[in-house]
Amino acid sequence: MSDSFAKEITRRGFIARVGQSLAVANLAGTLLKGAEALEVPDPPGKKLGWAIVGLGSLAINQILPAFAKCEKSKVVALVSGHPDKANKLALRYGVNPKNIYNYQNYDTIRDNPEVDIIYIVLPNGMHAEYTVRGLQAGKHVLSEKPMANTPADCQQMVDAGRKANRKLMVAYRCRYEPYNQEAIRMARQQELGPIKVILADHGFNIGDPTQWRLNKALAGGGSLMDIGIYSLQAARYLTGEEPSEINAMMYSTPGDVRFKEVEETINFQLRFPSGVLANCTSSYGYSGQNRYRVVTAKGWFELEPATQYTGLRMYVHHDNTTEERVLPVRDHFALEMDHMSGCVMENKEPLTPGEEGLRDLTIMAGIYEAARTGKTIKL
Ligand code: NDP
Repeated sequence: MSDSFAKEITRRGFIARVGQSLAVANLAGTLLKGAEALEVPDPPGKKLGWAIVGLGSLAINQILPAFAKCEKSKVVALVSGHPDKANKLALRYGVNPKNIYNYQNYDTIRDNPEVDIIYIVLPNGMHAEYTVRGLQAGKHVLSEKPMANTPADCQQMVDAGRKANRKLMVAYRCRYEPYNQEAIRMARQQELGPIKVILADHGFNIGDPTQWRLNKALAGGGSLMDIGIYSLQAARYLTGEEPSEINAMMYSTPGDVRFKEVEETINFQLRFPSGVLANCTSSYGYSGQNRYRVVTAKGWFELEPATQYTGLRMYVHHDNTTEERVLPVRDHFALEMDHMSGCVMENKEPLTPGEEGLRDLTIMAGIYEAARTGKTIKL
């Protein structure tokens, strides 16, 4: 083979190969453009990445263990003021140490594509700031309850979510578990007839006087903000209505060092438009209150405990008999986090969006005002 012939063959081969490659590239480009337009569902078993902010009691004892039961959520990052604790937990839960943040470099989480959703588990007074920063970092946010210290803070969080086009959900775990869902179904379908009265009580005897829950700036208020909110939520989710009037009374034991800044006990009454009345209590001063009862013309049904993490029980009373209803026991936190992941995957509005937290804070502001002034507050 002469040199010139060999060169010609090589040149032709090159042109042909280039031609083929271009054709393949064009085809691939067309397919790619088509693929971009095509909406495909997530593969089965896909899990979104979560960052947990604030590694305290709830995060360590409930939230992190719950990931083992999640179908759509996995923990991929931790945010903490204590690197030793964060490193220890990262090792335990298989979190890459490069995904450990502190409160100063938290905003750089925006550059971490592994993180889809941020869960704020900080003291109440810090929820607003860390939620807004999380949303501004382009992440979806789940905030613990109460959503923030004031309705204005809640509004700021809702606005930040809208501006960033990201989901914002409040961690009302009871809305996602079978016992409370069954009570809601029974109430809304009037299984024992229309509701007359709801009685809801939440209380425990709070310990350490130096804890943040007794500090007004960090907690926003006393027992109402922490556990009275469960009584309020129950009255609202059982009726499916918003209260129109509020009465309230407050009491703190004189001289008790725990209640220098926030209230010990607050009792409140709500009137709902359908005529349902709710009597609710909330206290840091006595223990063992965790229940609600829905009273109708034909009988009543109740949960006790109603809102603890486990061991919920339901009783239904009518025709002079009381029966217990047993339902599946599920991890509230796994259900709640998977709900949020599902909403992000499918671009749906969460069952308990930021607006729901805002409604509670607005009503709680009314409860405090009613207790302070002794007047009925109309909403
Ligand atoms: P903890 O006090 O146990 O933990 C709060 C964590 O926040 C701390 O461990 C710390 O984490 C971080 N933190 C940052 N700054 C401060 C500060 N100035 N003071 C105190 N802690 C700080 O609280 P909980 O885990 O009990 O509660 C956290 C949130 O979860 C609250 O909003 C609470 O209302 C809510 N909650 C909800 C429950 C539910 O059932 N849905 C139940 C219990 C609580 P680090 O050391 O990592 O920085």
